[in-house]
Amino acid sequence: MDLKDLYRDVIVDHNRSPRNFRKIPDADRVLEGFNPLCGDKLTVYLKLDGETIKDLSFEGSGCAISVASASLMTERLKGKTHAEAEKLFGTVHELLTHDVPTDTEALGKLAVLAGVREFPSRVKCASLCWHTLKGALDGAGRSSVSTE
Ligand code: ZN
Repeated sequence: MDLKDLYRDVIVDHNRSPRNFRKIPDADRVLEGFNPLCGDKLTVYLKLDGETIKDLSFEGSGCAISVASASLMTERLKGKTHAEAEKLFGTVHELLTHDVPTDTEALGKLAVLAGVREFPSRVKCASLCWHTLKGALDGAGRSSVSTE
């Protein structure tokens, strides 16, 4: 199976049944992200235990890529530390914008997001949830982030 098939399968799967698609009622951080280019609108919920991401979820509506990317992200980062999440944010950003990410091993299943590079207009769809998560982790005094 080549990357293109894998990409399509993973996106379809995670869009059809997104993981962690729910509200966290007692979330420590709630941040809304918006991608005006496509109209994707996601809210990221974060429950922290010190430096650890105890729980992570999202809600909202968007295209298949934005939803699948958020699903993959929440699945991957639950139980990870703030520092690990920041590092992965950097690696994913690299993956979406460069041809050769430096740390492919750290990506695991997220490596399929490389398929988005074939559709440059969708890069912001895939990165929306990551920017929103970073904003939430940084505890930005804003209630929303935008890819613009
Ligand atoms: Zn989109």
